[in-house]
Amino acid sequence: MENLEDFKDDINKCSKCGLCQSVCPVYKITGNDCAVSRGKFVMLDGVLKGDLKLNKNINKYLDLCLKCGKCTKFCPSAIDVCKIFETAKYQYAKNTLSGKFIFFLQSKYIFGNFIKIFKTITIPFRKKHKSKPDAKLKVLYFKGCVNNLCPRTDNYLEKIFAASDIEIIEKDFDCCGLPFLSSGNLERFEEVKQHNLKMLDCEFDYVLTDCASCESTLKQYMDVKFISLGELIVKLNIKFKFSQPVKVTFHKPCHLENDDFLEPLLKNCENVEYIKMENYDDCCGFAGEFALKNNRISSDISKLKTKNILNTGADIVLTSCPGCILGLHQGIIHSNRIGKKINIKNLTDFLETSNIIYVDNT
Ligand code: SF4
Ligand code: SF4
Repeated sequence: MENLEDFKDDINKCSKCGLCQSVCPVYKITGNDCAVSRGKFVMLDGVLKGDLKLNKNINKYLDLCLKCGKCTKFCPSAIDVCKIFETAKYQYAKNTLSGKFIFFLQSKYIFGNFIKIFKTITIPFRKKHKSKPDAKLKVLYFKGCVNNLCPRTDNYLEKIFAASDIEIIEKDFDCCGLPFLSSGNLERFEEVKQHNLKMLDCEFDYVLTDCASCESTLKQYMDVKFISLGELIVKLNIKFKFSQPVKVTFHKPCHLENDDFLEPLLKNCENVEYIKMENYDDCCGFAGEFALKNNRISSDISKLKTKNILNTGADIVLTSCPGCILGLHQGIIHSNRIGKKINIKNLTDFLETSNIIYVDNT
């Protein structure tokens, strides 16, 4: 397991240019330099030099981060910011009582079995993916924890891809590992990583994902081709017809690398008007543990998002991450608005509500 000392050179690469401030959603709200990577690197440098202790106060600032990765993409010194914060968090949490307790809750005995039990009791409510061994395209479906708890997506997949020539392969994947990285539980992350890598032992063209955060985490350790549900729908040229005209907008999750599929997909939806919102790729403010630990800041970031959503006049906000759905709901609830109801839906949930779904082979 790496420790903070291994990142000494990376931390020293920070030129203190402050460019990360311009993209950090937490800095935008707090104006606090300790919230952004530059300030955290100053503190961690102090820890490495022995001038500071990796204590509760520094941990508080490590937690003041959405792990959105926006600063990593923007940093001229190309520092892998999140990896350094996760390692520092691990070094702190593994030696504290609260950290040990969280690691215990995240263990395969508690968290792992909780997901397994839900997966088992929801089997009767899930449509089984029909086997099409001669299909031209084989996708290995990474379901993710939310879809393991809730059977709806399995049923949507069957409906959307019924007429397509694809084989959806299911394996017993564990969590992608993102919640463990966020808590600095690097040992549990390594455990799920090793388990998930074993699941790749079959023939497939792509790993299919339905959650931008799962996909970006899996990409850290799986050297295979990925395809998101949106991309797959466009690739197969699936078209949708809605009975009533509907206006939609889209929130791009921070972890969604590529949203080139969105506009072609929505063009293939009859009766759907797409309105692009301002700053559509700004963070929703949720980020799991972040919302629990920094509730007010999380809600302030969500409220900024809500303003942009409302300005579009859309009936539905679409996204492709279950965590973002919670963040968008938080923004709408905390904005205390009166008036037109806005629905928030995962892209696939929305497509499933169309009246006609067909594959265009022309
Ligand atoms: S953008 Fe990178 S180099 Fe500049 S202050 Fe932020 S972390 Fe340091
Ligand atoms: S990962 Fe996101 S929230 Fe964290 S410091 Fe970088 S920009 Fe700010």
